[in-house]
Amino acid sequence: MRSTVKLGSISGIEIGLHYSWFIIAALIVLSLGGRFRQVNPDWSTGEIWIAALVTAVLFFVTLLLHELAHSLVAQARGLRVRAITLFALGGVSQIQEDSTDAKTEFWVAIAGPIASVIIGFGCLGIALGLGWQRSTEPQTAVTGVLVWLGYINLGLAAFNMIPGFPLDGGRVLRAIIWALTKDADRSTRIAARVGQVVAVLFILDGIWRYFSGAGFGGLWIAFIGWFLMDAARASYNHVATAAPRSV
Ligand SMILES: [Zn+2]
Repeated sequence: MRSTVKLGSISGIEIGLHYSWFIIAALIVLSLGGRFRQVNPDWSTGEIWIAALVTAVLFFVTLLLHELAHSLVAQARGLRVRAITLFALGGVSQIQEDSTDAKTEFWVAIAGPIASVIIGFGCLGIALGLGWQRSTEPQTAVTGVLVWLGYINLGLAAFNMIPGFPLDGGRVLRAIIWALTKDADRSTRIAARVGQVVAVLFILDGIWRYFSGAGFGGLWIAFIGWFLMDAARASYNHVATAAPRSV
């Protein structure tokens, strides 16, 4: 995954965007615009699109913070991090080396979801402070943006904690199996197998939703499943080829 647009660097880590990011950014702005228009019919067209644009930009800032959490913890534990790239399905931190111990793997993996949970509750907390009441639609553009960001970040943390490698939850699972079995390769194979099972469930769920009338949303879930399947298979094969042969 190579960046096509470089934004700069933080703590020596190059921050960039992959071209697929622009497609998803446009889709997010369009769908948010539609949603804001529906929920807040009294907003002006200008307000709706500015809110949609600001929300999309802030969403990518929160994704970047999730990746930075992974990367900075990795750096703190002595791993080199080359770049963070944001793309259609989120972000990737390009950490140069594999974790050398289960504890490092655990903390690097869980740092991202912890960041997303803090951001999520932080946004909802600020919205509540500004007068938003739970289980009602936000009344102002600012609380609207904060509530959307709050829920999407909590959702992101929950999604990432699904225990299928290479999702963060799969890495946490791998770290736990690694700590228990003291066998890094075996833990990768088990976590990658679980990841493949999770991916198949995503694909089946997406296809089922598609034929139940969910349309694009269903295909999107199936696509994420296909992406996860590919990544899990690559992780499994990487171990298979890199595993030392017994002599
Ligand atoms: Zn993550």
